[in-house]
Amino acid sequence: MLLSADALGALLAEGGVVAFTGAGISTESGIPDFRSAGGVWTRHDPKLFTFSRYVRSPEVRVRAWAMRREFWSVQPRPNAGHLALARLEATGLVDGVVTQNIDGLHQAAGSRRVVELHGTSRDVLCVGTAPRAGTPDGCGFRAPTSWAFDRVDAGEADPACPGCGGILKAATVSFGQNLFPGVLEEATARLAAARTVRAVGSTLKVQPAAGLPAAAARRGARLGIVNNEATPLDPLATLVVRGTAGSILSAAAAAAV
Ligand code: NAD
Repeated sequence: MLLSADALGALLAEGGVVAFTGAGISTESGIPDFRSAGGVWTRHDPKLFTFSRYVRSPEVRVRAWAMRREFWSVQPRPNAGHLALARLEATGLVDGVVTQNIDGLHQAAGSRRVVELHGTSRDVLCVGTAPRAGTPDGCGFRAPTSWAFDRVDAGEADPACPGCGGILKAATVSFGQNLFPGVLEEATARLAAARTVRAVGSTLKVQPAAGLPAAAARRGARLGIVNNEATPLDPLATLVVRGTAGSILSAAAAAAV
C-alpha cells in the first residue's frame, strides 16, 4: 500500500514508534549509500574490505585508511530526516532509533536513544594482532577517529595501537565481523517494545539487521517503510511511502507534532 507523508504523520502521532534507519537517510547529507547507482559498491569491491583481509593485509589497511581519510574529509551534517526523528523523540512520539549507519548523524541531530548496530566511524579501536573468527581481540584501546587521522596525516599509512602494537580499525562492523556484544540484544529489545517500526532509507537486505523489522512486523507491530525504491519487506508493511527520506520525514513530523 503506497501512502502519503500525511498518513505517516497520523501513524507517528500515535507514539510508540522506533525508527530503523539505513544508509538512505544520510545520502541527503552527502554520504553515499552502498547499493544505489553511484553508491560505494559500484566504485569499490566490497570483497576487498572484509574483516579477515583487513587483519591479514597491511596493503588493505593502508588503502582503507586512505579511503576513510578521503571519505570523512568533509564533515557531513544532519539533514531534514535526522532532524525530524530527533524532534519526534524530543516530543515523545519516537522512542528511539536503531540504525545500521556508522556516521553519528542521528546523535548530531539530537537523537539520544540510538543503537548503532554496525558500530561507529567516530572512533577507532585496537583489534589485536590476530583476532579469530571475526571478533576483535585487542587490548581495549579506543580513541576518536580524528586522533588516528592525525597520525595518518603525519605519515603513518597504517597506524598501530599505541598500547600494544596491535592493529587499529574503525569501530565499525566490517563484512565477516561479528556484531559488537550486546548490540543485537539491545536493538531486539527496543523493537520488541515498539508498537510501530518505521524503516527509513534501507534496502532491508543486510542481515541480521533486516531481520529485526521483519520480526517486529510478524509479531504484530505496524511496519511503515520510507524508501525511494521497493524493498523485500514491503508486503509485510502497514504503510509504504516511496520518495526522499528528508522531505517525507519532515512533512510527517509536521503533521504529527
Ligand atoms: P543500502 O546502501 O543497502 O541501501 C540504501 C537504500 O536507501 C536504498 O534502497 C536506496 O534506494 C535508498 N535511498 C537512498 N537515498 C535515499 C533517500 N534520500 N531517501 C529515501 N531512500 C533513499 O543501505 P542499508 O540497507 O542501510 O545497508 C547497508 C549497510 O551500509 C549498512 O551496513 C551500513 O552500515 C552501511 N553504510 C552506512 C553508511 C552511513 O553510515 N551513512 C553509508 C553507506 C553504507
